[in-house]
Amino acid sequence: MLTDHIEIVGARENNLKDVTVRIPKGRITVFTGVSGSGKSSLVFDTVAAEAQRQLNETFTAFARNFLPSYGHPDVDSIANLSAAIVVDQKRLGGSSRSTVGTITDINPLVRLLFSRVGAPHVGYSNAFSFNDPQGMCPECEGLGRVTTLDLDKLLDRSKSLNEGAILHSDFAVGGWYLSTYLMSGWFDGDKALSDYTDQEWEVFLHGTGKVPVEWQGGKINTTYEGLVDKFTRLYIKKDIGAMSDRNRESLLRFVTAGTCPLCKGGRLSPAALSVEVGGYHITDLLAMEATELLATLLELATTVEGAGRPIVESLTDRIRNLVTIGLGYIRLDRETTSLSGGESQRIKMVRHLSSSLTDMMYVFDEPSIGLHAHDVQRLNELLVKLRDKGNTVLVVEHDRDVIAVADHVIDMGPKAGAHGGEVVFAGSFDDLASAPTLTGRFIRHALPLKTQARTPTGALTIRGATLNNLRNVTVDIPTGVLTVVTGVAGSGKSTLVNEVFLGQFPDAINIDQSAVGASIRSNPATYTGLMDDIRRLFAKANGVNAGLFSFNSKGACANCQGLGVIYTDLGFMDGFKSPCEICRGRRFSEEVLEYHLRGKSIADVLELTAAEAAEFFTERKLRTILSAVNDVGLDYLRLGQPLSTLSGGECQRIKLATELHKTGTVYVMDEPTTGLHMSDIQHLLEIVDRLVNQGNSVVVIEHNLDVIKNADWIVDLGPEGGTKGGEVLFTGPPAELVKADTHTASAVRRDLEA
Ligand code: ADP
Ligand code: ADP
Ligand code: ZN
Ligand code: ZN
Repeated sequence: MLTDHIEIVGARENNLKDVTVRIPKGRITVFTGVSGSGKSSLVFDTVAAEAQRQLNETFTAFARNFLPSYGHPDVDSIANLSAAIVVDQKRLGGSSRSTVGTITDINPLVRLLFSRVGAPHVGYSNAFSFNDPQGMCPECEGLGRVTTLDLDKLLDRSKSLNEGAILHSDFAVGGWYLSTYLMSGWFDGDKALSDYTDQEWEVFLHGTGKVPVEWQGGKINTTYEGLVDKFTRLYIKKDIGAMSDRNRESLLRFVTAGTCPLCKGGRLSPAALSVEVGGYHITDLLAMEATELLATLLELATTVEGAGRPIVESLTDRIRNLVTIGLGYIRLDRETTSLSGGESQRIKMVRHLSSSLTDMMYVFDEPSIGLHAHDVQRLNELLVKLRDKGNTVLVVEHDRDVIAVADHVIDMGPKAGAHGGEVVFAGSFDDLASAPTLTGRFIRHALPLKTQARTPTGALTIRGATLNNLRNVTVDIPTGVLTVVTGVAGSGKSTLVNEVFLGQFPDAINIDQSAVGASIRSNPATYTGLMDDIRRLFAKANGVNAGLFSFNSKGACANCQGLGVIYTDLGFMDGFKSPCEICRGRRFSEEVLEYHLRGKSIADVLELTAAEAAEFFTERKLRTILSAVNDVGLDYLRLGQPLSTLSGGECQRIKLATELHKTGTVYVMDEPTTGLHMSDIQHLLEIVDRLVNQGNSVVVIEHNLDVIKNADWIVDLGPEGGTKGGEVLFTGPPAELVKADTHTASAVRRDLEA
């Protein structure tokens, strides 16, 4: 059969070396290669970005003013593109009003069903929406929760106001809020709260009136608002789900959050909650796990008649997609803020599977994340389904089983960063297995099962865990070894490890994939502590102040304040950035760039990769840090690359690099193989082995079979996801696991036979 191709000529984004390559249309192409080899640079930064840009070009100049501006990717030409839909791992986020049901557009169908065939009949489907004033519960305004201020937590009654009796930091002594209270003259600032009269309490908590306040030399008339009313207005009426982590944490210390007494968490008005279809209330359906909901819909399909029938059928289709993609344990009323990156990606995928668009280009970033080998087969079915609808499917992936479904493989390499950026193989999966590339080599050789497991030095016991789906789990996590926690998606691994274990053993260090360094000014050099020493070396060599060599200080380029780029704020849209014209992205002032260390300016040094820097610097302390960075496989990172451009996996590894010198510590990692090629995984396992050999304990959540086979101890959860999971099925070394009857055991057996 004839296919045409997307033709890319001369791609040079990031590390790409003038890449010219063809991607077959209407096919599944998987992009492989070690991390940092240039897969994302080719797929996301070049192909998808150009598709996005060309689409924007089709809008009028006026409309384009309102769209984010995409620069031309650095490429000579790309022919034959289709419109691209990028399905990435960015968490869905959103507010408390955003649920799996609202984000997948499944809720509108459920509402339609209830408005058409529900009894008693209520009319419009808006009456079933908790985001619509007509449908929302009047008590909690559709949030399902009410938050109440807990005065016992907010106040230290043994203290006076002047001694800081109000514990929330916004009411600190000397601040504006507390000053309005003290200067009202309505109570004695030196009197302990416990000595207040009833009347003083009433005024303190609920009083209102105009009061004069002396503030920064002037007199201001302001409105006094009692503490309870003020606190409620300022914090409690705000949507907790939309707050910053810091604000949420500080608020949660002073409130009790409970289920709304009126709707009992159902979020809807009493009228909407009373309507039934086939004996079910709308909240019953939204609270079911997808597998159970699917069964219920199949049953409803036989009883619901007339206008309801086609609605039930399209609902069934969508829920079946959720189940197929490994989300059978998810409920429609689950808030999207609580979903992991992998879950978010799969939910986005469901949105597109029900679309009838064809000749689109779908681009996936490691869709196997969070999926057990058992679920990966079903993921493959969905990729095939998308292709067979007439779409081009591009997938960046490391998982053997996903790579195997490819019609065409494009392998990037040979290595990472400056040593990568080329297409080292293009062809079928079968041919890849005999290709002389790293990917080819690792496809051929799977790791053997570890037979000599280490002996634990002790154990940390998790007791009586019942959070989410866990069924009163008590289990030993051995110390002094590598423990791998396994189980199908939704079986309870994250709940057990990230919530319960870290909660019960707060000294354990969580090396997660969340972004490192909140500021755009941070980079590998500042994060690892290299920068302080580098600044000192420059200062010494040039006889000037070390502060000059920081782009956060007076040495910074004045035009961009040391950012190297200029941000243009578009108000309600994503802003965009362009390189600073004065320093041309070098971030320092001309004067500072005149100073050299062994022939390089500070900007030149920040351009070095970690590997190059390890040769450039002879100082012991710098070399120790740099060798740790190289050991975690980040030798290709430039010292000055903003941390905000690092992937989740890279963030995790740079955190790991700063930990490598410790002993007697317990480390927790959630899917550390994310973003890692099979050869990178080998490397990661060596680092983990080193950590354990140094006397640390490591607990990881993993699906990757190479990691599972290399464990000293396995804790396998299941048997399935959601309410059908939450039990410990097996604990022991991998050599014993293969004799067990669990999904993980059979996945390992299959891998060993292959
Ligand atoms: P992969 O997807 O194969 O892991 P990438 O395409 O993300 O690799 O990265 C290829 C190289 O380009 C790496 O050296 C990486 O550090 C670098 N790189 C990626 N994004 C940026 C960026 N925004 N700025 C500078 N360098 C980048
Ligand atoms: P795993 O890590 O094995 O994929 P999880 O621990 O994430 O499993 O999930 C176990 C169960 O708990 C699932 O049914 C999941 O839907 C549920 N769950 C997890 N986190 C939350 C949350 N924040 N709110 C509600 N349910 C949750
Ligand atoms: Zn309510
Ligand atoms: Zn500048």
